[in-house]
Amino acid sequence: MTEETNAIPASLPLRNDLIGETPYGAPQLDVPVCLNVNENPYEPNLDVCATIARRVGEIAHTLNRYPDREHIALRQAFSDYLAKESGTRLAVDQLWGANGSNEIMLQLFQAFGGPGRTALGCDPTYSMYPEYARDTFTGWKLAHRNADFTLDVDAAIAAIHEIKPSMVILTSPNNPTGTPLPPADLERILEVCETADVAGAADGVHPIVVVDEAYVEFRNPGTPSAVTLIAQHPNLAVSRTMSKAFAFAGARVGYLAASKGIIDCVRIVRMPYHLSAVTQAAALAALEHTDEQLSQVAHLRETREATAAWLKTQTYQGRPLEVAASESNFLLFGGHFDQRDRIFDELLKRGVLIRVVGPDGWLRVCMGTDDEMARFREALAEVLHIVE
Ligand code: PMP
Repeated sequence: MTEETNAIPASLPLRNDLIGETPYGAPQLDVPVCLNVNENPYEPNLDVCATIARRVGEIAHTLNRYPDREHIALRQAFSDYLAKESGTRLAVDQLWGANGSNEIMLQLFQAFGGPGRTALGCDPTYSMYPEYARDTFTGWKLAHRNADFTLDVDAAIAAIHEIKPSMVILTSPNNPTGTPLPPADLERILEVCETADVAGAADGVHPIVVVDEAYVEFRNPGTPSAVTLIAQHPNLAVSRTMSKAFAFAGARVGYLAASKGIIDCVRIVRMPYHLSAVTQAAALAALEHTDEQLSQVAHLRETREATAAWLKTQTYQGRPLEVAASESNFLLFGGHFDQRDRIFDELLKRGVLIRVVGPDGWLRVCMGTDDEMARFREALAEVLHIVE
């Protein structure tokens, strides 16, 4: 894979606020060990691949027609998946699919953001949120997290009262820190938002709370997902994806679980037939193999714990590395890397691609196969000596 450069002639009437902007995305480089975009490193097995090929083959002859715009079969399959994964049964009209949770989030911003509206996030957090805000002319404001990256709930609540956002974006586990949001903290924010005002909106309009659960299957077993709270909280929207634990990033399938009211708002802004028949068939096929697709999740959790323990034994400039407590498939580590770009470059020279993201001094690594992690450890141990 190569990176294209961006060459935009000044004569093109690009929106003024987009002039000088570049496309979002981590470098896509052809290196032996890619630990930079939080994918599941394990491929679908041969049975899953055969079912996907068969199901796509079965619908191929229908491709002259538009797909099921409401993707009912897939929404039913999401419902079955969530019942199994989170113990909560939602109706088809409480679920919605799109091309990755990126599109789910964009649709939420299109429906609930817009000119004069503000979305509130909790810093540091996923760096795409300001882009959805920019693309929908929504204001973007941040409340700051605690030093250990847990949510500062009081600060978030104070910001909700002060900024009067229409959307509060919480990410659990958070990216790039891996920090989970305890259910009690989420419930406090939900309750505040049930009566809080939205700037510029009529009386009786209250913010929605979006919980981005892209990495939630990696949480420590026993912790409830936010989907368990949907029945009691009509202002809660939970964004999920098949890209991470479910090992299906290439198919681009995300989904939203929420009250019927929120789903109906999103349906207003979706493109007609946004989810292709091929995507729907492939996703349904993969969901027939849920156990196989999730079979490496427990192992990836163990890899995370072992990697965190190993990182803490490493030193940089005589001080042990810090590792943020993570319930995801990645770790934010370092804390005092004064030359994080150099460390990144030296790892890359050794064939290991990680990510420069998050607060200064930190780097993020995603969990790979056992072999990939061994190469990461070997390369990092070497680099930490060189870059002192
Ligand atoms: N939310 C978070 C927090 C993410 O980290 C990502 C991917 N990096 C996404 C959403 C989007 O993932 P996808 O579009 O593949 O579902």
